[in-house]
Amino acid sequence: MFTDSHCHLAMPELARDWLAVRAAMAAAQVTRALCISTSMEEFPQVRELAHRFDGVWASVGVHPEHEGVSEPSEDELAACAADARVIAIGETGLDYYQMQERKAGRAIADLDWQRARFRTHIRAARRADKPLVIHTRAAADDTLRILREEGVGQGASAWDRSPGVFHCFTESAAVAQAALDMGFYLSFSGIVTFKNARDVQEVARAAPQERILIETDAPYLAPAPMRGKINSPAHVPYVAAKLAELRGTTPERIGEITSANFDALFLARNRRI
Ligand SMILES: [Zn+2]
Ligand SMILES: [Zn+2]
Repeated sequence: MFTDSHCHLAMPELARDWLAVRAAMAAAQVTRALCISTSMEEFPQVRELAHRFDGVWASVGVHPEHEGVSEPSEDELAACAADARVIAIGETGLDYYQMQERKAGRAIADLDWQRARFRTHIRAARRADKPLVIHTRAAADDTLRILREEGVGQGASAWDRSPGVFHCFTESAAVAQAALDMGFYLSFSGIVTFKNARDVQEVARAAPQERILIETDAPYLAPAPMRGKINSPAHVPYVAAKLAELRGTTPERIGEITSANFDALFLARNRRI
């Protein structure tokens, strides 16, 4: 049994053929998936999938890259997260990659709106007692700094002991350690299967067993040997197979471990409420 801890089932590439996606998941023994919101505009559809299907849950949040979309307050996010099928806040975080690439007269210093949005999501997650799904790209130092400034991992609450997950982990071993020290889980995507992903593979090999998750980030980032195709939660066993190879175990065992970790992070606290 496998659990995809991060995918975007409401995106048209997957939503338009949802029954085929479900069938492929069943055939691959991928029985559960966390469907991630990237905007408040998208959230109702994400929530609807989580209410309609067993084994599908939702998050609520606005992706750090999105501009020109509605900007939820801490109150709005916490209210949306009160739904029992909404088990996480995010994806949220910082993404400076486009700014670095374009260098089109815009600077990282101008991204105060990203940093403010991130803080709003952190506060809503703490208030709602739901884990954060963190997206960080070309912004690890600021991501860690803001989490620290918001006191994440420093309180005595259950939320502070496991405040969330760094999804699609592609950062250094030092960033991994800083995230683990704050109580975060690390989720590995299809990137870990890419030949040139040596640093990520080393983090995936060495990470503590009780803190690893697997994901597809579908419809993006199809793992080898599906690279370049539309990704689907049904492909998460390829990620499990790579972790199994790196850690000297079986894909099935990685499926069990990461499913139990998913329960501990996302579902146990919902039962507690
Ligand atoms: Zn992301
Ligand atoms: Zn995502």
